[in-house]
Amino acid sequence: MSNKITLGHVHMSGCIGCCVSIADTYGGLFTLLDNYADLVYSLTLVDVRHIPKMDVALVEGSVCLQDELSIEEIKETRERATVVVALGGCSAYGNITRFSRGGQFNQPQHESYVPISKLIDVDVYIPGCAPNPEVIRNVAVMAYLLLKGNDAQKKLATAYLAPLMALAKDGSRIESDSEACGCDIMLKVINQGLCMGCGTCAASCPVFAISMEYGKPNIDREMCIKCGACYSSCPRSFFSFDVCGDYENILGAITAAMNPGGN
Ligand code: SF4
Ligand code: SF4
Repeated sequence: MSNKITLGHVHMSGCIGCCVSIADTYGGLFTLLDNYADLVYSLTLVDVRHIPKMDVALVEGSVCLQDELSIEEIKETRERATVVVALGGCSAYGNITRFSRGGQFNQPQHESYVPISKLIDVDVYIPGCAPNPEVIRNVAVMAYLLLKGNDAQKKLATAYLAPLMALAKDGSRIESDSEACGCDIMLKVINQGLCMGCGTCAASCPVFAISMEYGKPNIDREMCIKCGACYSSCPRSFFSFDVCGDYENILGAITAAMNPGGN
């Protein structure tokens, strides 16, 4: 279908777990590729060697500052993609690569890894280690509606993507040397009197670093891998009430898109 958007998966210093999450949409991935998006670049899945122009780039992994090729690739991605998505905790926040210190054979000088927003402007964040397959699918559908839909669909897509775009904008807080970690919910939610003890942060932590004690989250910082999932899943963090009003329509649009044959 010529009206499809073009989609790419750019693999920086990541583990391919985010790519597996793309595939974990199972039939959803086929529906996406049949109807809405052509996968024009992905070293894991497509035999295209150089980054082409594309509508949406899903970037996995952080960037090694001692690897010139990686720096070139991320800048090239920004130049060639209309929408750049930081896919997963490494790309968005550095995640486990924040602990990198170099000194290992055979590139001991490879020691500094940064989130992609340190080097380029990023439009949308999809945090999580690994990121949620449904959110990846939803962002792809919404990107399609934003770029190819009618006015009403564009409005819905904007409402859905706005919080994830706000999160990307907030990524610039990394400039102030703050970084994603369990401390975010401590500093920005609990210490602000916003925590309602729902436990979503504990459920979202991939390494069980958060336990609920006396109805409030307690973070084991030794276990935290700095993925940012807890803050981004907390309903008292960057939650947008604008989405609430449109929620049923957004859900309807995604359901209809994933069931294009009808009923
Ligand atoms: S506490 Fe858990 S969810 Fe939060 S940043 Fe650390 S590892 Fe990620
Ligand atoms: S998800 Fe947010 S509101 Fe819920 S317990 Fe965790 S910090 Fe509190």
